[in-house]
Amino acid sequence: MCGRPQRYGALVIVEELIQKTTALADSTEKRKKLPDRHNGCQETAFGSPRDFLDNRFVYAVVSARARGLSVGVNMCPDKNCNFQCVYCEVHRNGEPREGPLAVEAMAAELKKTLAFVRGGRLRERPWYRTLPDELLQMRHVALSGDGEPTLAPWFAEALQAVVHVRALSGFPFFKLVLLTNATGLDLPQVQHGLKHLTPSDEVWAKLDGGTQAYVNKVNRPGVPLEKILSNILLLARQRPVVIQSLFPAINGEEPPLEEIEAYSRRLLDLKNAGAQISLVQIYSATRPSPNSQSGHLPLKILSRIAQTVRQTSGLTAEVF
Ligand code: SF4
Repeated sequence: MCGRPQRYGALVIVEELIQKTTALADSTEKRKKLPDRHNGCQETAFGSPRDFLDNRFVYAVVSARARGLSVGVNMCPDKNCNFQCVYCEVHRNGEPREGPLAVEAMAAELKKTLAFVRGGRLRERPWYRTLPDELLQMRHVALSGDGEPTLAPWFAEALQAVVHVRALSGFPFFKLVLLTNATGLDLPQVQHGLKHLTPSDEVWAKLDGGTQAYVNKVNRPGVPLEKILSNILLLARQRPVVIQSLFPAINGEEPPLEEIEAYSRRLLDLKNAGAQISLVQIYSATRPSPNSQSGHLPLKILSRIAQTVRQTSGLTAEVF
């Protein structure tokens, strides 16, 4: 026990990750001329590779927000998304990594990967050898990927397959986390699929701003902000939701103060309308993006944003 407050401990892990991986991030920059499928900045997390372990759909990655190892399912190998975020790590104009998700093949890969990770086999791979043990603890299985999971026609089938792997493959229980831009949360097949989640599972819904003008600049969404908010509210009235908010430096500039205030008021409005928001994650672009406008905001500014969220909305906000 180091005696530090727990939240400080989380920040220390993040800082350790950043330090440990800066050199690798630099080398990722140098690889920018390689073709997309070998070079998307989605391939790195704090500089660590999104490691597909010879799989097509399932990968392992060390993630600050997971506070350790996340096993991910690329729910959108076809890269379908209705946002074009300035910080997106996927080369959206390049060739997709794969075609449609093959659900059975994904489930088989997930079982194999869980056995590999649980067996401590990641240590055999060079990048993981010197990582502290706590960063190699598997924290969850993430439903994420190169696009927006809730727009995938196979969403419910894939979610059900992952739930079956959890229930039937004999591994200890693991938490599922759905990462989403929230735009498909009201779709009947998505609502149906989400019924398979347990109370331990989590939905991390993206909300990157409080005004349509700013969201247009950062997310370039195919839907209005009001739709994103109403979808978050729809789900957060049914079950607790984690809000994930990425604030990039755009051309070196931090988000305007009025924007952070508007964003914080949106969170308050959601809470007042009955949304259960268990956590607001404040973070910045940490992985190289194909868009050179987008950069990383210093911890000091992120901390200030989190403070405004806490003061305005009374919600728990953490910086990652
Ligand atoms: S929502 Fe996600 S996948 Fe879609 S553009 Fe934004 S960061 Fe990329």
